[in-house]
Amino acid sequence: MHFSFEPLTLRTRHVFAISRGAADTFGGAVVRIEDGGLVGLGEAAPSPFYGETQATVLAAIELLKKEIPEDPFQLEELAQQMNRTLGRNPAAKAAIDIALHDLVCKKLGVPLHSFLGFSADKTPCTSFTIGIDDVETMKQRAIEATDFSVLKIKVGTDRDERVLEAIRSVTDMTLRVDANCAWSPREAVQRISALEKFDIEFVEQPIPPGDPGAMRFVRENVSVPLIADESVETSSDIRALVGAVDGINIKLMKCGGVREALKMIHVARATGMKVMLGCMVESSIGISAAAHLSPGVDYADLDGNLLLATDPYVGVQVKQGRLVLPSEPGLGVRAGNGA
Ligand code: MG
Repeated sequence: MHFSFEPLTLRTRHVFAISRGAADTFGGAVVRIEDGGLVGLGEAAPSPFYGETQATVLAAIELLKKEIPEDPFQLEELAQQMNRTLGRNPAAKAAIDIALHDLVCKKLGVPLHSFLGFSADKTPCTSFTIGIDDVETMKQRAIEATDFSVLKIKVGTDRDERVLEAIRSVTDMTLRVDANCAWSPREAVQRISALEKFDIEFVEQPIPPGDPGAMRFVRENVSVPLIADESVETSSDIRALVGAVDGINIKLMKCGGVREALKMIHVARATGMKVMLGCMVESSIGISAAAHLSPGVDYADLDGNLLLATDPYVGVQVKQGRLVLPSEPGLGVRAGNGA
C-alpha cells in the first residue's frame, strides 16, 4: 500500500458566519491510500472548536499513518489503534478512516452505503445552511435556496426573531435553527420560546457543552426538540445526554470517521434518540462519505460542499433537496474541474 497526503484549502462563496465567528477560508487535508491500482480518498476538515487546525491535522496524519493495518479490511483495528496513538485529533483520524473505507469498497466493487448495509433509496433530504448575516441577506439566501426543502438557520444574535420572521414570510420550507452554544440556559428558554411561533423543527445546541443538567432544564421548558451537536463528539458522550436532548448530531470530523459514526448511530438508537448527520465546510470527499451513512439517520445537514466557491471533487448530488448517492464503488468521488 502506498500512503500520501497533502493540504487542501477550501474557500466558501460567501463569508460563513455562526454565533462564535466567521471565515471564508478553511484549511484541511486530503489522504490517498493506493493498493493494487485502486486509490482510496479521505479528507480532514478540522475545526478549531475541537482543537484542530490544518497544521495539527497534517502533523497527526504523519503520526497516524503507521497505524494502517497490512490487511486494509481491518477497519476496526485501524480505529482502535488510532485512538490508542492519539486521544483526540478526530478530523485527522477521519481522513485515514474514510480513505481506507473507500479503498476496501473499491476492492469489493461496492459503494460504501452497500458495504455498510444501507439502501441508496432511503436517503433523507439535506438542509441548506444560512449563515449569520443581516436580515435582508439571510432572507435573500432563503429565497435563492429553491433546490431544497429544509433550511437550517444559524442564530445567536439579537435579531434572530426578525430573521426568522423575514424567512418565514417568504417560505413554507421546514426550518431548523442552530445556536452553536450562544445562549445561557435561561436565555435559551426565552429565545427558543420567542422562535417557536415560526414553526421550528428543532434547535441545535442552544447552550455550551459540558452541563447535561442545564440542557435538560432547557428541554423541559421549551416545546421545540433539542439536538446536541457540540455536546457530543463520540459514542462515549451519548450516555450523559440521555433525557437531556431529543437527538444528536454526528459529524465524521468530530468522531474520527465512518466506523465511529456508525457506532454512534447504533448507540443513539439504543437510547431512543433521533439521529442527525452534519458536517463542517468540506469538499465532496468528506460530504460523500457522510452521505453514504445518511440512509441510517433521521435528519441530514450535508451541505458543506455546496457552500464552496469551487469544490475540487465530485460525488454525492442533491436533487430536489434529497441526497443522491453515487453508485460507483467506494465513495464514488472523483476529481472535478476545480481539482
Ligand atoms: Mg451545529
